[in-house]
Amino acid sequence: MVAGWQVSLEESMQGMVPKMARSVAHKRLPPVPDGLRKDEKGRPPTSIMLFYQYVEPAWSAKQHRRALTFVHDLGRKHGVTGRGRCSAEGLNCTLTGTAEGVRAFAQGLRDWDALFDDTDFKITDGLEHHKKFKSLTIQKKEELVAYGLPVSAAPSLKENDTQHVEADEYHKMMSEPNTVIIDVRNRYETEIGHFQPPQGGAEFIDPKVRNSHELPKWLAMPETQDALKGKKVMMYCTGGIRCERFSALMTQLKQDNPDFQTDGEFMLRGGIERYVRTFPEGGFWKGKNFLFDKRQEQVPEKKPSEELQEEVESKCCVCKKLWGLYRGQFKCSHEDCQVPVIVCSDCRPDVELKQPWLQCPLCEARAGGGHAPGVALRL
Ligand SMILES: [Zn+2]
Ligand SMILES: [Zn+2]
Repeated sequence: MVAGWQVSLEESMQGMVPKMARSVAHKRLPPVPDGLRKDEKGRPPTSIMLFYQYVEPAWSAKQHRRALTFVHDLGRKHGVTGRGRCSAEGLNCTLTGTAEGVRAFAQGLRDWDALFDDTDFKITDGLEHHKKFKSLTIQKKEELVAYGLPVSAAPSLKENDTQHVEADEYHKMMSEPNTVIIDVRNRYETEIGHFQPPQGGAEFIDPKVRNSHELPKWLAMPETQDALKGKKVMMYCTGGIRCERFSALMTQLKQDNPDFQTDGEFMLRGGIERYVRTFPEGGFWKGKNFLFDKRQEQVPEKKPSEELQEEVESKCCVCKKLWGLYRGQFKCSHEDCQVPVIVCSDCRPDVELKQPWLQCPLCEARAGGGHAPGVALRL
């Protein structure tokens, strides 16, 4: 953490746009904004739409197949491309298209099944044309998030007593005592950006996992449960989906173990994505929001670039200089790891040429025999 980086609750709420915090579930989709212009080659700007929808009880094998076919057909019909996972437990997609196209897609889902009235479609308009995905790939998967909890073993979402909290409310909660805030994402995402609650407020907990599969194991550890006991447990991820099953797992663990009780669980509705748009000056968010689409990361729109630069705490894995961007798709060389690693622009040509052994910070800590602080997981 950068010393001296501290803002009061009041300061942190400057420029807040509360309407950005609201989910579009059960509401009309946001209208196509005015002033979207074609580029010099006559191509329309790209819109990105993120959404997920769990289904409980799960789809039958036949319904699952029908859903896959429907989504592909709908994408083709509206010129929508992107990536997604479709499992018996629902649908999770990052799609691109024109502003009209992605909205028509969302409406198509709603018309197909009322289940999608519950869906929070998060749309960003006016991006450069080349941010569009080339094709539509919806993978048939066992799980929407790879927790290793297949439908038959997954904790129920309907019985989950975690509250979904809107970004503005969540923001205030971060300044409350006796509270912890868990970053439910992978360590390599947290490295370039995470929440930093104000002093005296929530304690930040980074599980330091390489992938979602490690999270249930992390949550089962006595050290983890000790850190959460009796606390208000806040959690967040990029868009919300990873908190859904993770928080349901917490509810289940609490039911199974009377010794493990908290002061309630709270997840950020719409995830960091929506928070950063609600707090364009940053709020308590620090650094960049790692994204899995061609934007690569999201930053608070109104935060000056010098300030963003000062917030960088991640390092190039080769020369160790502060560097806050993943470019070049380099991976940790350890066979059992292979998470993305940061290579700065100075080191990049050499790394591309010589392809040296690269190591992520988690593997480095493992090799050094040192436990990272907090409750880091060792494989
Ligand atoms: Zn470097
Ligand atoms: Zn590694």
